[in-house]
Amino acid sequence: MRYAMAIDIKKCVGCADCVVACQTENNVPIGYARDWIIEKVEGLYPDLRLHFESQRCNHCDDAPCVRVCPTGASHIIEGGIVKVTHEECIGCGACIEACPYEARYFHPDGYVDKCTFCDHRTSQGDNPACVSVCPTHCMYFGDLDDPESPVSKILREREHYALAPEAGTKPNVFYVK
Ligand code: SF4
Ligand code: SF4
Ligand code: SF4
Repeated sequence: MRYAMAIDIKKCVGCADCVVACQTENNVPIGYARDWIIEKVEGLYPDLRLHFESQRCNHCDDAPCVRVCPTGASHIIEGGIVKVTHEECIGCGACIEACPYEARYFHPDGYVDKCTFCDHRTSQGDNPACVSVCPTHCMYFGDLDDPESPVSKILREREHYALAPEAGTKPNVFYVK
């Protein structure tokens, strides 16, 4: 089992419903976020194109945030999901410094938090909250080891990229062009 997410940038309209859904589903405090929207402009004037990227933790295969955590609070569970055990986190911030994607934040209750790929839902066979509310159905989630999963299918069929591959973390969130 290797969980991954794919987001079709041709269909994403930047509405931020995924951000609101995540905050509600995961009790993310106001002013903080586990996912966020980035606007990117490509091309040369006057041939400019705008697209949106819904970004979050990439649940990297080679996760520096896990390597640097001194307590083991940051760890990897089944399916490759990178999680933080809040009770074991001492708030040293090493993982925040180590993440090239700025995917983690200090929760006001004194621990580090980030996207969990909604493992409380995905372990029951449901989609993550952000994926389930997307009005354009541009987000796909599933198991890369299953060739018939939605994420395997779209990554097989369409050109795609990951963020900052040069960081060498082997991210598992992909953007479909
Ligand atoms: Fe860790 Fe950052 Fe990769 Fe998430 S995106 S697994 S927080 S290095
Ligand atoms: Fe680990 Fe918490 Fe320190 Fe991050 S802030 S490295 S999760 S103990
Ligand atoms: Fe938030 Fe879950 Fe989506 Fe991660 S997978 S951004 S925790 S809703």
